[in-house]
Amino acid sequence: MLQQTQAATVVPYYNRWLRRFPTIRSLAATTESDVLHAWQGLGYYARARNLHRCAKTIVENFGGRLPNDPGKLKSLPGIGLYTANAIAVFALDKSLPIVEANTARVLSRLFNIRAPIDSTSGRRKLWELSAKLVPQKSARDFQNAMMDLGALICTARNPRCQICPVKKFCRARDPASLPRKKRRAAIVPLTELHGLSIMAGAVLLERCGQRWRGMWMLPKVPAPRSAPIHTTRFPFTHHRVTLQVFRSKAARPASHQRWFPIRRLNKIPIPSPHRRTLTALLA
Ligand code: SF4
Repeated sequence: MLQQTQAATVVPYYNRWLRRFPTIRSLAATTESDVLHAWQGLGYYARARNLHRCAKTIVENFGGRLPNDPGKLKSLPGIGLYTANAIAVFALDKSLPIVEANTARVLSRLFNIRAPIDSTSGRRKLWELSAKLVPQKSARDFQNAMMDLGALICTARNPRCQICPVKKFCRARDPASLPRKKRRAAIVPLTELHGLSIMAGAVLLERCGQRWRGMWMLPKVPAPRSAPIHTTRFPFTHHRVTLQVFRSKAARPASHQRWFPIRRLNKIPIPSPHRRTLTALLA
């Protein structure tokens, strides 16, 4: 949950998630729709699908217990080098490198790395340095300290070099200019048109394709001549999406569409922009 998302946002989701799926087996046994419903609002839904697949794989291949070998951890869906090492370091106190946002900033400044840290060569350099620095014993304390150093002292803006405990090792000449990153892709505007059909206390929804696969949204419509009854905007990767909703006639649903009683909408997974829109229009 913490990948790409701040801890303050994650905490209520995390607590609800553990109440709903208290064990790996209970997560493995649930449906994808339930998983997406519990995740809705957090975004980056591939993480939820991977977690679900991961739980199933652990039950099928590892008897329902998380393996304690970093190589096996890395073979699980959704677990890459960072997550595998983080589990092995923090849960098992193994001596392994970790590179995440805070440690990447600290390392890039300590060693004055000028390559963009999101480039292949920059990333490789950071992992090499982290592997060189991590001690054989108390790796957990070391990695915690690196993260705390980045979060509290070697901050993105105004690093507090005067009180930094590793100042005498630091090679950064201009800390505030580090780390460097590749230029971001330009934001591309996108307009999406959807229809609102209501009949006998039910609303027509369609199953989402790629972006929110497995969730339900207002059906797409061709460009109508009327004015939209609702407009909202939301970011998606490098897009700025304008979602316009038009009144639409009730028609026979297509194979990927279904009528849902309005009172049951809170039971199904709906992506946040569409849920906000439905809440506003059905109020
Ligand atoms: S001396 Fe400054 S730039 Fe270097 S690690 Fe400490 S806080 Fe970061």
